[in-house]
Amino acid sequence: MRPAIELISEIFVPESVSTHPNVTQICDSLRARVDLDDDDRVIGTQNTQKPELYGWTGDIGWHVDNKGDVYFLILSDSTGVLFAEGETPISYSQGDVIRMNDFTRHRVEQNGLAVGLFMGAFEYGDDTKAINALTEAVSALTEQYKSNYDNAPRWEGSPLQDNECYIWHFDEECNYERTLLERATDTQGMILTCSHDGCTKPASEIDHHFPYMSDQNRCTTHQRGLR
Ligand SMILES: [Zn+2]
Repeated sequence: MRPAIELISEIFVPESVSTHPNVTQICDSLRARVDLDDDDRVIGTQNTQKPELYGWTGDIGWHVDNKGDVYFLILSDSTGVLFAEGETPISYSQGDVIRMNDFTRHRVEQNGLAVGLFMGAFEYGDDTKAINALTEAVSALTEQYKSNYDNAPRWEGSPLQDNECYIWHFDEECNYERTLLERATDTQGMILTCSHDGCTKPASEIDHHFPYMSDQNRCTTHQRGLR
């Protein structure tokens, strides 16, 4: 049986990754959370099984996530130690790829903030597939932001950046697409806007009852809670 935590590979992380807007966004948000409780010092994932940005700052206490096998790659130039119940702790640093079965209780001791790429969760993770996908994701973060907008991994569900918006193409499934504002103005779709009195900015948070209601659409200025 595989150990609950295992260092399985190392991927080179070029310097330019740290300046990609998707990466600076999550770093800024983590810096604003330094003094909060454990739960709020973690920026979580949506478990899309594709590479997603996520992160944490400071030590995170014992917990389980109960999803399955997950992979993560440390992008930030910082160090920490991952502990899992009954396993040898792993000291990690930039570029390390770790597979973890998150049904096992685990905690981290972290120096400063950590930003990583996450991929999961899987019933039984395929290491080769994960390493390949994570390698591609790192590479996407070294490319030009706008030309590679759709391929670059992001903090899933993150607040919109100033040059982004959500657009609805009037489809029946009511899916709305996150895209670049400059691209959206050339299409037939409808840009979702803030419903706060007098505000016309693109909505970053969409009403749960959209498209039947949009009263709760909020731009980043009028959004409540953590960003
Ligand atoms: Zn607004």
